[in-house]
Amino acid sequence: MGPGPSPVSHRVLHAMSQSMVGHLDPQFIKLMDKVNDQLRSCFQSKNKMTFPISGPGTAGMEACFANLVEPGDKVLVCRNGVFGERMRHMVQRLGGEPIIVDAEWGKPIDPADVERELKKSVGVKVVAAVHAETSTGVMSDVGAICALSRRYDALTIVDCVTSLGGVPVDVDGWQCDAVYSGTQKCLSAPPGLSPVSFSTRAVEHVKNRRTKVVSWFYDIGLLSEYWSGETKRTYHHTAPISMIYALHEALTALLEEGLSKSWSRHRTISSKLISGLEGLGLDVLVEPASRLPQLTVVKVPDGVNDSEIRTRLLDEFDLEIGGGLGQFAGKAWRIGLMGHGCTLDNVDYCLSSLGDCLRSPDSSK
Ligand SMILES: *Cc1c(COP(=O)(O)O)cnc(C)c1O
Repeated sequence: MGPGPSPVSHRVLHAMSQSMVGHLDPQFIKLMDKVNDQLRSCFQSKNKMTFPISGPGTAGMEACFANLVEPGDKVLVCRNGVFGERMRHMVQRLGGEPIIVDAEWGKPIDPADVERELKKSVGVKVVAAVHAETSTGVMSDVGAICALSRRYDALTIVDCVTSLGGVPVDVDGWQCDAVYSGTQKCLSAPPGLSPVSFSTRAVEHVKNRRTKVVSWFYDIGLLSEYWSGETKRTYHHTAPISMIYALHEALTALLEEGLSKSWSRHRTISSKLISGLEGLGLDVLVEPASRLPQLTVVKVPDGVNDSEIRTRLLDEFDLEIGGGLGQFAGKAWRIGLMGHGCTLDNVDYCLSSLGDCLRSPDSSK
């Protein structure tokens, strides 16, 4: 019950244990096409260029930035946690010029701040934002940020690593240009793949770059010849076959449940967790309007030792919750209810274990 990797069902683990086929085997190519279709359903997008990048969420992030950002480009980065800061580093390494719009830790990005900056810094090429900031448990209104960016003729990159599957992600509705996600959060597959989706506008933009994409591996022009070649597929790299089996099974389970059922399950179950935590006297750090249902951030009570409680949960109850990151290190716990792990049983178990640890002194001392 941490911030990911989330629990993986037996069904998905079983799929991973199937025998190997070649990465250009006709059966495997059919599976790749099916996974891409499933991803389009999850992203709510018709984008042709939709496929999983071989690598964790950060690899999808790198792919989006490497393709859309050229040296000298102004890139507006919305930063309200660790992952916004990681975006800034990527822009810098690519020779772009990051322009930062900050929000306080634990608060969402204010679209009005984004607009003010777009007005001021003429010629912004790309606007990047994190939908679900896993370091703070905050959801930002990326739909509003994308709409604004369109008006100022900027492309958008949206981090949907923790949001996809847990809350609505509407790539076409938002008219978002490049999105990336990860398999180990609300999709409940093991870590190792990063689903991405690029709009036609983004693909055109990449075709018309002044410079070559600096990364050979992440160049979507090259990747598409393997992942979405109309007729013949060509070798680019050896896809992690078993991971594709896993992702296929995890997406099948999610789409069988239905996206809106999954979203409402995350909402309902997390509200039970929140009332239970408040019942234990704990303070939830994020305002209700921007709380992520799949990740709840609570304040470590005064006088309580953060790492001691987490160690006891792990040792005595076999339960993992997350510690705070960055400004929240030592001050907050991050409790995940992601995908297959988002169950009432898990909520009850977490509340009773945490309650025990907070009430009783360390039994080993
Ligand atoms: C987990 C996460 C990432 C990075 O994913 P990795 O698989 O760890 O590389 C990026 N952004 C957000 C919002 C995340 O939660």
